[in-house]
Amino acid sequence: MTNPNRSTAFRLITIVSSALSSFVLGLWALKFDFGVGPSGLSADAIGSMIAGLCALSAGGAALSYFAGVDESIDYVFNETQIDKLTGLHARVAMIGKIAEASIAASRKGEPVFLIDIDIDRFKQINEAIGYGRADELVRAFARRLKDNLPKRAEIGRIGAGQFCILYPDRKAMPDMDMIVRDLIDIMMKPYQLGRHSQSVNISVGVVALPKDGSDPTTLLRRSNLALQHARLGGHGNWAVYQPEMGEVADFRRWIEAELLTAFERGDFELYYQPQFDLTAGRVVGYEALLRWNHPEHGMIPPMDFIPIAEETGMIEPIGRWVLRTACHDALRLPEDCFVAVNISPVQFMNTEFIAVVRKALGESGLAPARLELEVTETAMMQDRGRAARILEELAAIGISVAVDDFGTGYSNLSYLIDFSFHKLKIDKTFIDRLEADASSGAVVSTIVGLSRALGVHTIAEGVETESQATLLRAAGCDVVQGNFYGKPAPLASAFETPQAYAVAMTVH
Ligand code: C2E
Ligand code: CA
Ligand code: CA
Repeated sequence: MTNPNRSTAFRLITIVSSALSSFVLGLWALKFDFGVGPSGLSADAIGSMIAGLCALSAGGAALSYFAGVDESIDYVFNETQIDKLTGLHARVAMIGKIAEASIAASRKGEPVFLIDIDIDRFKQINEAIGYGRADELVRAFARRLKDNLPKRAEIGRIGAGQFCILYPDRKAMPDMDMIVRDLIDIMMKPYQLGRHSQSVNISVGVVALPKDGSDPTTLLRRSNLALQHARLGGHGNWAVYQPEMGEVADFRRWIEAELLTAFERGDFELYYQPQFDLTAGRVVGYEALLRWNHPEHGMIPPMDFIPIAEETGMIEPIGRWVLRTACHDALRLPEDCFVAVNISPVQFMNTEFIAVVRKALGESGLAPARLELEVTETAMMQDRGRAARILEELAAIGISVAVDDFGTGYSNLSYLIDFSFHKLKIDKTFIDRLEADASSGAVVSTIVGLSRALGVHTIAEGVETESQATLLRAAGCDVVQGNFYGKPAPLASAFETPQAYAVAMTVH
């Protein structure tokens, strides 16, 4: 950052000119006899003294003025250009770097990549682990970024948990895929903060300069669009900007704006899907699945709005409503059936979580043993220590917990030993591949074996065909759920019509 107004020549000219003007002032004072004093010195001598003193003081003033300005400029520079917490470029500085890179890229014709990285649900992490520790996390994250990127990459922190990288490399173009994937793997490894281990999910958006735009604002908006797109796709995901993403963003904004109205208007409904116990030969529980029935747009799938509700915090009131409603509805289910409720990682991390669960049980009068919570691996891994404590508390209340989407998240299974839970819910992706791919069968058998060793049950989700059901039974899976046994349906038709039982019994 060089400013011509602050060059040495400019300073000298200014100091000399202020000294000169003071000298002239001195002479002028002399001319009007202000300088003739009682000391008897000649007017000339007094004049030169006054002029000299004026010049000196003016010079001094100018010097200190510039020193002061420099200090303030340094101060402002440090405050605005450098991120205090991490020492990376701050947002404004990064915008400048993007502008420079964009000009250089179009001049030289060499592409530069802008990589936008966001720690998912940073706000909630902040609240859960406290600001001090969250700062440590950000610092550790920044250090790791720096250590794993080439020296010439420019790195900035552009939001609380948001980072931005300018990755200039002509050779990187064909390997961008691998570079981003590796970076995601590295950045998602747990962070050791004192004795606390913290895991994070990240979403990444990529734009290419100059292809995807030239001004920093557009480029950052587009990298963020790609990032949002990636986030909706799941955890640890990334996407390269595509022009159609603008439409997705419009839809997203619409959902965000509409969620509260929808909630207050009572658009939400719970559907129930039966869970069939293969050994007992009967339905033992029902999973509550959230439905948004919009008066104009019809059914909006949960995967379209739950991630947005999680980001905006709307999942808290919605999640409480789901728990309350499911507990009430469960009273209408056969007495030997439980209700399974999906818990978002955001709810699970909330300090009020246990209180919310207790309240739902207390208000409905439902026995704790008739409530099951489906919690994903991702939710448990964010803060293992806390997750272990919450799980113990739930167990103490008498509530059973199923690990949802099992097999899709972390391959390290050692964490299971620390956690008290009752069921592993094998993800649909494995069931889908059961018939075609022998290794899926092996995965399912391994999970069943592992569960037995841990003393927990297994449930398979998304069972659509009879042969899948047969294979699952052979693998020793305890409970099955899927369209083959009964589709999700409103409470009345979920179990009051004999459909679920009828189908289930024929398979038995
Ligand atoms: P999930 O917990 O993995 O739920 C299973 C999903 O698979 C449900 O999708 C269900 O309708 C669908 N499904 C069940 N059997 C079959 C089948 O045989 N074939 C096919 N193709 N699909 C089947 P749904 O209802 O769209 O929910 C999607 C996801 O949304 C759920 O995945 C869950 O993660 C989330 N979700 C749903 N309700 C809630 C809720 O109340 N709270 C929270 N936090 N998340 C919810
Ligand atoms: Ca589930
Ligand atoms: Ca699933």
